[in-house]
Amino acid sequence: MTTVMVTGGAGFLGSHLCERLLERGNDVICLDNFFTGRKRNIAHLLGNPQFELIRHDIVHPIYLEVDQIYNLACPASPEAYQFNPIKTIKTSTVGMVNVLGLAKRCRARLLHTSTSEVYGDPDVHPQREDYWGHVNPIGPRSCYDEGKRVAESLCVNYHQEHGTEVRIVRIFNTYGPRMAPDDGRVISNFIMQALKNEPLTIYGDGQQTRSFCFVSDLVDGLMRLMAHETECGPVNIGNPTENSMLELAQQVIAATGSSSELTHRELPQDDPRRRCPDITKARELLGWSPQVDLEQGLKETVDYYRSRLAEEAT
Ligand code: NAD
Ligand code: UDP
Repeated sequence: MTTVMVTGGAGFLGSHLCERLLERGNDVICLDNFFTGRKRNIAHLLGNPQFELIRHDIVHPIYLEVDQIYNLACPASPEAYQFNPIKTIKTSTVGMVNVLGLAKRCRARLLHTSTSEVYGDPDVHPQREDYWGHVNPIGPRSCYDEGKRVAESLCVNYHQEHGTEVRIVRIFNTYGPRMAPDDGRVISNFIMQALKNEPLTIYGDGQQTRSFCFVSDLVDGLMRLMAHETECGPVNIGNPTENSMLELAQQVIAATGSSSELTHRELPQDDPRRRCPDITKARELLGWSPQVDLEQGLKETVDYYRSRLAEEAT
């Protein structure tokens, strides 16, 4: 029986990953400081004898015995990671050292969730893993982007110096049920606004693009890379279908049947203009490609937010 630790396990992606690992028969230790994660995300797992929840901040060392580690701890929404930028950097640097130290001591394989943000506002499109990126090192997003870049470097150095087995995934925008309704990311904002028939807030002119991956596809990609015997990564995991924020707004209005209009807000500083993964490496190495398109994924996500609103109303 493999014991798997998931840091950030009470968050959006982490809770789905914990669920899938339990379904597969693993013992799962979920570690979270509940900064952006919520107990409600994992409440249904608490009665499972193979599931253990530990409230812990990875900025502090922890001593456990584990066989595999998925490191997801880090706020992902720009609003959340800019709320306390120094803490965000500490999580991706000091926290990463602690998690790598644990992996080294236990000889555990560690999968680290990096991000498309390491490419910054990219000059190369779509983004391949060998592109070094275009990141403002002192801008408002740098606490996240540079933190994640240091974390990748730490992973590679632990691998080279200590033989630690690392797996680096660069995740592109992922959405789905359990993404916090108020976390500020575009899909949760748009759906919540649409369900309340409030105007959808388009930042800037809405021509900027993102490529949205549904959570089940993402988790499948993480587990495939973890299972790979030799590949350290980085490997892009994301859906290569690119949409502008204006197109996304129209899709959300269609999926919700909303009467919402659009309103424009100032574009945040350093907001990347385009983002789309080249997933050739994931296809060839892992046999992975996304299975859920935006229409289907939005439908499931809208159902989730509808039920959250219905809960609040009772
Ligand atoms: P999330 O905010 O829902 O989850 C992050 C989790 O980490 C939360 O449960 C939070 O409480 C926990 N956490 C934060 N700092 C911590 C710390 N110091 N110690 C312990 N726990 C801590 O975000 P998510 O979307 O589930 O993202 C999970 C991971 O995937 C993050 O590392 C994020 O950078 C990465 N990622 C996500 C996306 C995406 O689109 N969802 C894209 C790129 C990368
Ligand atoms: N965005 C928007 N309206 C919102 C929230 C975000 O137009 O209410 C835009 C944002 O400026 C960015 C894109 O949507 O261009 C994706 O933003 P998000 O915060 O989801 O993630 P990012 O990819 O920027 O980290």
